[in-house]
Amino acid sequence: MDVDAEPAEPKGPPQPCEHLWFPDGNVVLATDSLLFKVHKGVLALQSSVFKDMFELPGAHGLGPSQGQGTDVIVSELYEGLPLVTLVGDDGDEVVHLLRTAYEREYYQPYEDDASLDTVVSLLKLSTKYDFKQIRKDVVFHISRYYPMDLKECDEIEENSTIFGLPRARCHDVLLDAAFVAEVDVLLPILYYACADYQIGSILNAMDEESINRKCLRTLLEGREKLEGMIVQLVATIPEIALAGSALTSTVCTSSDGINCLRVQRFTGLKTLTGTASLQRIIGINVCRYLPPATCISCRAAVESLVEKKREEIWDAVPSYFGFPDGGWDALKTKLDEFFAS
Ligand SMILES: [Zn+2]
Repeated sequence: MDVDAEPAEPKGPPQPCEHLWFPDGNVVLATDSLLFKVHKGVLALQSSVFKDMFELPGAHGLGPSQGQGTDVIVSELYEGLPLVTLVGDDGDEVVHLLRTAYEREYYQPYEDDASLDTVVSLLKLSTKYDFKQIRKDVVFHISRYYPMDLKECDEIEENSTIFGLPRARCHDVLLDAAFVAEVDVLLPILYYACADYQIGSILNAMDEESINRKCLRTLLEGREKLEGMIVQLVATIPEIALAGSALTSTVCTSSDGINCLRVQRFTGLKTLTGTASLQRIIGINVCRYLPPATCISCRAAVESLVEKKREEIWDAVPSYFGFPDGGWDALKTKLDEFFAS
C-alpha cells in the first residue's frame, strides 16, 4: 500500500448553490457537488431538452423516467420538489449555464471579460441541453476572436489575450469544445490556429487526451499539408520574383539601369519555413530578404506576388482540415445562417 498517497477527499452530499437557490423555485437540479432550486418555466423557455422533460406525464409534471436523449434521471423528490439529476455534469459548469440563463449581466458575448472556463462550459452544456440562444451567443463570441479573413488574421496581435489568457492557450481548448459541441462551422479556423503549435505541444495534448483523437488526427494531417504549402511558397520566392521582374521591367527605378529583380539574390529564406502560419510569410516580411539595393518598385512587385500566392493557400485552408467544399465563403454563409436560425 502506498502510505504517501493522499487519502481520498470524503465526498459529502451535494450542497445548495447560493446563487441559484430561489425560494419559489419549483424544481431541484442536482450534480455531484451542487443543488440548484430553479424554475421549470425559466428552463423550458430556453431549453428544448428541459421543456420536453417537464412535459412528460407523471407526478409534479415530471415522470419517474429518464429525460429524452440526455443523461438525466428524474426519479426522486427533494423537500417535496421534483429532483433532476444531471448525470456527469460538473457543478461549477452548470453554475455558468444557469447564471447565464437567469442573470442578464453574467455573460455578455459582446464584452471581453468572460473566462475560458465560462465559455467552454456554456458551449458544451448549451449544446447538451439545447439552450439555443446561449449557444448562438457563445459561437458568436468565439467567432469575434477568430475571423475567417486573411487580412483580419494578419492584424491579430500574436501576444494578445482572449478570455483572460494568452491567445495560444485558448486555441486547443476551444477546438476540442467546438468539436465535441459539433460547431462544425468554427472548426477550420480553430484548426488553423492550432496548426501553429509546435509538434511537442500537440503530442502533449495527445498524451493528456485533452483533444479528441479524431480531431487531433485532422489537425495533424491539415498542419502537414499547410506547412508543405508554405515551404513550397518560400522555396519558389526567387522564381516568383523573377517572374515579377518580367512584369515590372518598365517600372524598375534602379539608378544603375539594371532591373534589380534580374540580379537580386535572396538570403536567409529558410528562416521563413517551419511554420504553419501564413502570418509569418506576409509579403512585406518576405521583402526583408531582398538585398538592400532593390528598388521600391521591385519590392512592391515581389510583395504583391507573394501576397497573391499566400491568398491562394489561405483559400485552400478549410480543405486541408476536412472541409473541401466552398471554402471560407461557404463557412461564413453557414455561420450567418446559424445566427439567423
Ligand atoms: Zn527595381
